[in-house]
Amino acid sequence: MPMVRFGSRLLLVLLVCIFAATAQDSPASPAQSAVSPKDAQAVAPAQNGDGIPSSALTLTDVIDRVVQREHYFMAQMRHMHPLVETYLQDLKTDRDENTIPVNDQYFLGRLDMSEAGEDVSFVGQPGFGHRMFAKLTGVYSLHYLPMGFAQMVVLDTDFQKRYYKFNFVRREFLGEVRCLVIDVQPRESERTARFLGRIWVEDQDYNIVRFNGTYSPQPRINFFFHFDSWRLNLRPGTWLPAYVYTEESNLKTGLTKTLHFKAQTRLWGYDLKGLAKNEEFTQILVDSPQSVTDQSEAASDATPIVAERMWEKQAEENAIERMQKIGLLAPPGDVDKLLATVVNNLLITNNIDLQSDFHCRVLLTSPLESFTIGHTIVISRGLLDVLPDEASLAMVLAHELSHIVLGHRFDTKLAFNDKLFFPDEESFQRLDFKRSAADEEAADAKAVELLKNSPYKDKLGNAGLFLKALQQKSHDLPKLIRPHLGNGFAGGKNVRMASLIASAPALDEKRLDQIAALPLGGRIKVDPWSDQVELSKAKPVALTSAREKMEFEITPFFPYLTRLSAGGAEKVALTTSSQSSQSSPK
Ligand SMILES: [Zn+2]
Repeated sequence: MPMVRFGSRLLLVLLVCIFAATAQDSPASPAQSAVSPKDAQAVAPAQNGDGIPSSALTLTDVIDRVVQREHYFMAQMRHMHPLVETYLQDLKTDRDENTIPVNDQYFLGRLDMSEAGEDVSFVGQPGFGHRMFAKLTGVYSLHYLPMGFAQMVVLDTDFQKRYYKFNFVRREFLGEVRCLVIDVQPRESERTARFLGRIWVEDQDYNIVRFNGTYSPQPRINFFFHFDSWRLNLRPGTWLPAYVYTEESNLKTGLTKTLHFKAQTRLWGYDLKGLAKNEEFTQILVDSPQSVTDQSEAASDATPIVAERMWEKQAEENAIERMQKIGLLAPPGDVDKLLATVVNNLLITNNIDLQSDFHCRVLLTSPLESFTIGHTIVISRGLLDVLPDEASLAMVLAHELSHIVLGHRFDTKLAFNDKLFFPDEESFQRLDFKRSAADEEAADAKAVELLKNSPYKDKLGNAGLFLKALQQKSHDLPKLIRPHLGNGFAGGKNVRMASLIASAPALDEKRLDQIAALPLGGRIKVDPWSDQVELSKAKPVALTSAREKMEFEITPFFPYLTRLSAGGAEKVALTTSSQSSQSSPK
């Protein structure tokens, strides 16, 4: 897709006005012929400023509004800098005709559509710059450009009626939002690659809320993938990209090579201002360095031991604040409380008094990892998603809690504020919460002891089963299992809490009642605007075949779309479960 860039938002608004004027003034303009014969048919109730339906709209009117909204959307996106994460699984078909992941890829970056349209990568390749675009190594560099996935949040950087043919299909509800379903095809004369597929347009403000298809024509040396791209109503009147599902089952990329993969792209961290609530405070520190001195003087009045604790606390709080500001960590919320309940169960049944409080927080990324920062236990969204039950969760938390109980050293360099002045994309290099092998071993041993006294003691077979499945998949899903900030879970010979594996039953992939791990994306919902997380309310579905177990796998997205009322901007209801909700034609 060529990126058509506008010098400024002003110019863009101007173009929209000109376009709108042209469409109104000359109803017989060539653009009109782009609309199918069904044009004559009224497709949507028009609404005046008060939202009261007036006369019916024709498809031409609808398309005019959609085009106008899409240009407004593009203008908005140039000011948005969400995090974009793509997790991709390469697939192969096994002897039983089941597709199984055999390799994976992971990209995390910040989307910047303001100028060059490049993402800034957080997972930079060693020895390369942090610009993702052309710096990836490995066999997939030809095919998987992260920017290619980020691109799929945009239908067309210059969406115009004259480039396309439109065909009204039907009305359909996506969640509670009534949509017009319209097929979109580039006109034969179009040489530039443009969107080919279907769009869902909500029938109140005519925003595109979903589009599904590819770009066409295909270029000779690169490939456009097929994608299903979803937007959520994150602010009143504003629909922003949240999920893209990509899949290719038989894409020929040369004489011998065929691409077979599926990928999930997620966007979050739109509300940078809200996430950076501490901005003002940081600014004061920068302007007057003595405020740092003031704090250390206060500490010097404390006893040496208290001073040491305060120092560690300061390092912990600095790291947490920074990670939240970048959008890596969810703000404190209900999921944290649920995790804390499990930790409390472990503490109480083991008669442990920590002497100070502890916290649990959710890392928003997919790779399976957990670590501690001082007295804060951090667990990734991906890991929370795939853990099969509470006993397995207790197993993960028990290991981290053990680091705290055993008083393992925590690098306090982050207590110095200058250590936090680094570009966001260096986060994974600068923030490092890895433990020594000796600490890991000690924490494993302590965790087993804690679990044996806990309410989870009779259910540890499931936890062992999860570790077994993880160990089995570690070869095929290295990127999912590779941690970015803490210690690895499995991989190579070392598996965390290996002693639990010995007591676990044998893995049986065919058994429907043995669930060793869940698919990604089923448990934790992220609000892409505020980064708040909550547990999915979708009820578990009974599996009909072993194929549906999809342990550690990714699935398509079917969010339950809701519309924000002007007054209810605080709460965004969304569902990411692929199984809980389906669109229902009306
Ligand atoms: Zn550890």
